[in-house]
Amino acid sequence: MAHSVKGWCIASFVCLFCVQERIDGAPNEPDSEDGPRMYRLKDFREEFGVTVVNSSRGSRTTTEFGVISSTYATARAIERYTPLLRAELALYPLKLIKKLRIKKIVVCQELTFKEEPIAGLFNPESRIIYMDIRKNYMDRMTQRCALHHEIFHIVDYVDDGEMHQDPKWASLNPSDFEYGEEDFEVQSDPRPTSTPGSIPGFLTGYSTTAVEEDKAQLFAYMMCDYSLVSRYEVKDKIMKKKCDMMKKLLQSFCSDMNPSFWSTISRRRLAAN
Ligand SMILES: [Zn+2]
Repeated sequence: MAHSVKGWCIASFVCLFCVQERIDGAPNEPDSEDGPRMYRLKDFREEFGVTVVNSSRGSRTTTEFGVISSTYATARAIERYTPLLRAELALYPLKLIKKLRIKKIVVCQELTFKEEPIAGLFNPESRIIYMDIRKNYMDRMTQRCALHHEIFHIVDYVDDGEMHQDPKWASLNPSDFEYGEEDFEVQSDPRPTSTPGSIPGFLTGYSTTAVEEDKAQLFAYMMCDYSLVSRYEVKDKIMKKKCDMMKKLLQSFCSDMNPSFWSTISRRRLAAN
């Protein structure tokens, strides 16, 4: 979920019993002496029940599948990202956020997985989301999508404990289609074109790499740019079926993610930046 620098997310590692978290708490910005204080990272806990922390300098987390590394985000980057994070989390029913049991969201810079720069990552075993908030700094749409993409991975994981297989979803794809491999290059360009591409049923090249990325990409754009998804739906029967399945999946996961929820979301109009 990022471009200019590579990578949106890798969510494809499980079994992280060997994980050694070494992320410290966030140095929150101090209260303002004039006027109302800023919304701080620690305020997310009270409003959403989600712990949001800054990375420590040179944080390295060893997992069975590779090392996650990051460093702390600057106060300025946090100040810019916090309203976005708050607005996007506020779209969700609190019931859903609670059900995800996110351990924490780590905001950071210079996020890498297996030494490759990435914009976001969900570690399913520790239930930690990492977001590189300097990536796509001037592209708010991509930053928003990156967050929802990671959140969907948690839904997908909590739903049935399985993210990497979904035969029902995959059966919607063209009969000769097969998902590809983990590909940092493809992830570097996660934005869809304004009209359906060459393979029916897919928003982006990144969607074609794995079933979990296909679902997460579609969900992210349903949350951030439903009108774009609608344009695909009209011209692409497979996309229409995937959207219907996605809505069903979400509603069975959380009853508040119902048609009325999607009606509200579909009226969202966001500037690209
Ligand atoms: Zn992903």
